[in-house]
Amino acid sequence: MSQILLLVEQKENRRLLLEWLAVYYEVLLPHSTENSEEFLPFNQSFDLAIIDGISLKRHWQWVAAQKQAEHPVCLPFLLITSRSDVGMATQFIWQSIDDLIIAPIEKIELQARVEILLRSRQLSLTLKLSHDQLDRTLQTAQELNEMKTSLLYMIAHDVRNPLNFIIGTTQLLTKYKLTLTEEKTQELLDKTQAAAKGIDQLLDDVLLLGRVESGQAGFCLLPLDLAKFCNELVGEFQSSLKLKPQTDRVALIFVNHNSQSAMASLEVSLLRRILGNLLSNAIKYSPPNTEVIFELKLTETDAIFSVQDAGIGIPVADQGRLFDSFYRAKNVGRIPGTGLGLSIVKKCVDLHGGEITLISEEGVGSTFTVTLPLAKPAKKQISPATP
Ligand code: ATP
Ligand code: MG
Repeated sequence: MSQILLLVEQKENRRLLLEWLAVYYEVLLPHSTENSEEFLPFNQSFDLAIIDGISLKRHWQWVAAQKQAEHPVCLPFLLITSRSDVGMATQFIWQSIDDLIIAPIEKIELQARVEILLRSRQLSLTLKLSHDQLDRTLQTAQELNEMKTSLLYMIAHDVRNPLNFIIGTTQLLTKYKLTLTEEKTQELLDKTQAAAKGIDQLLDDVLLLGRVESGQAGFCLLPLDLAKFCNELVGEFQSSLKLKPQTDRVALIFVNHNSQSAMASLEVSLLRRILGNLLSNAIKYSPPNTEVIFELKLTETDAIFSVQDAGIGIPVADQGRLFDSFYRAKNVGRIPGTGLGLSIVKKCVDLHGGEITLISEEGVGSTFTVTLPLAKPAKKQISPATP
């Protein structure tokens, strides 16, 4: 129901207006209409004010401030005045009001003017809403555009490096295949394979991010033995760690806190993204000869995974933006990365209706903890997950 503020000092006019308007609208009266000096501050919102000449003279500054505060939405003021006063009205008064009625007031005229003014307000409110929506759409489009540009740069940079490496090693292998030792050949092949896997992973991440952002990520809950799943994942990481010389290695330790089997219904491919990214970060940002501890705990309602490292840590100033795509902390130095991993982790956790928290201190280490509810994902799309 529209709200109409009455700022009318003339008693008879006020009584009449109240009687006529209260049938269709909510009528607001300031505390003291007897003495309008006292009606301010009036800070309740309203859709239309009906004001008489005396009130307008006293409160023109307040009227101007109200109109200004609502700009560009129209906040109409309807002036009730006598025929003799109309001639005395200044230019300024005409700028402060939107329409006028000459007393004695006629009910039918009043109703028509009130309705027209309320409609103008409604229209301007609708216009403002569409304008705001358009603004938001434009902003999203700009963000998407910026993201697309960064994506292109990132792909150009992060695909070209391993690709150059693959081209270089294959040329080397072709040229020196007869003179290279078997051990050296194997080393080059392993590195080539790792570089190709890196590109594959990057493309997977980019595609997954696109699917999640456009709401097309498949979501298929399957019963899963979490302890087995984590053990296998840790095994995969340990085998790739073994490719490094012993002295450069980080030790990856898995601790399962559940005595019984840890069965849960979760989305396997998303869970793999979450844990894979956290583990690879922990390993990547840790100096050699330190430990990464990966823990799993199941409660009645949640699966809780934590990954703790004694690595470079994350400066407090960067912690708030880590989950933004392409954001990297200032202390990464020459450690490679695209800044995509954690934004994917966050989106996968959100899809599960879970949460992720971080405790980190620069130079000391970081612990990421992911809590996933066992029953209710935030967004349940029952289409099979595409690889
Ligand atoms: P990639 O997309 O290849 O994973 P990335 O590791 O740089 O690249 P994210 O995984 O999104 O990107 O991580 C974002 C940033 O958060 C990293 O660049 C790094 O600054 C910081 N970070 C994440 N995990 C850790 C960690 N365990 N220790 C220290 N810094 C971390
Ligand atoms: Mg990462």
